[in-house]
Amino acid sequence: MILTLTEKIVRSSDCTSFCFAPANKIDWHAGQYMQFTLPHQNPDERGINRFFTISSAPHEGFVMITTRFAFDKSSTFKKALFSLEKGSSISALPPKGEFIINNFTEEYVLVAGGIGITPFRSIILDLEYKKELGNGSIYLLYSNRDNEIVFKDELDRVAVNFNKFKIRYIISPQRCDIGLIKIAVPDYREKIYYISGPGGLVKSVEEGLVADGISQSAINLDYFPGY
Ligand SMILES: Cc1cc2nc3c(=O)[nH]c(=O)nc-3n(C[C@H](O)[C@H](O)[C@H](O)COP(=O)(O)OP(=O)(O)OC[C@H]3O[C@@H](n4cnc5c(N)ncnc54)[C@H](O)[C@@H]3O)c2cc1C
Repeated sequence: MILTLTEKIVRSSDCTSFCFAPANKIDWHAGQYMQFTLPHQNPDERGINRFFTISSAPHEGFVMITTRFAFDKSSTFKKALFSLEKGSSISALPPKGEFIINNFTEEYVLVAGGIGITPFRSIILDLEYKKELGNGSIYLLYSNRDNEIVFKDELDRVAVNFNKFKIRYIISPQRCDIGLIKIAVPDYREKIYYISGPGGLVKSVEEGLVADGISQSAINLDYFPGY
């Protein structure tokens, strides 16, 4: 499918959202991703395809991806993406992925490492829109390397309106590990976990939970390779 760039939103000094209008209506579940293809000159060995989570919620009607730019160290794909002009097109395969919440009646802990916030922005705004956010409860544990916290304003707005949605921002050098989860989340053993972000963080939080006796079946993972 073809998507046309309608807007770029700078989120922090190295993070931007790209909003695309799909040529035909696309349905997706909050938390899903797409594979994007962006042909460009002299691609490096990482090539012209990338997976990105759709960070917009389905009711917003546009496809938004949110990603970091490593400046000189960036891949040729990211350089091409960040230099796209409004009105340019990109192609993508249909949305996929199981990192979704089907039945929001349970108690959830969402663990985001940096850019791993993207599926949670979609999920939380979707639940808010469907008026389901009061049904279960959510603890969002959101780790960042500094105070430039992507989507903080939107997340804080939702937390003000729903007392069962709680956010804990964790700024480096503090780390999100099992010790912090025990302090931050009451009845942490009774929750369903969703962990998203660069591989190292996802793996270490998962290992901490499993070592503490939490069942693998209560843990959902979304690895972002390449960081
Ligand atoms: C299901 C899924 C969902 C995802 N969702 C998102 C998302 O929402 N947002 C997001 O940002 N990412 C997401 N990703 C990850 C994304 O696909 C990229 O892997 C990631 O953004 C890194 O992009 P890049 O490879 O272009 O590297 P860059 O971001 O350009 O660079 C990242 C780092 O790699 C180093 N590097 C760059 N080029 C090379 C090279 N040729 N060889 C070795 N090192 C190099 C750089 O020094 C830099 O530190 C997702 C991945 C999956 C599988």
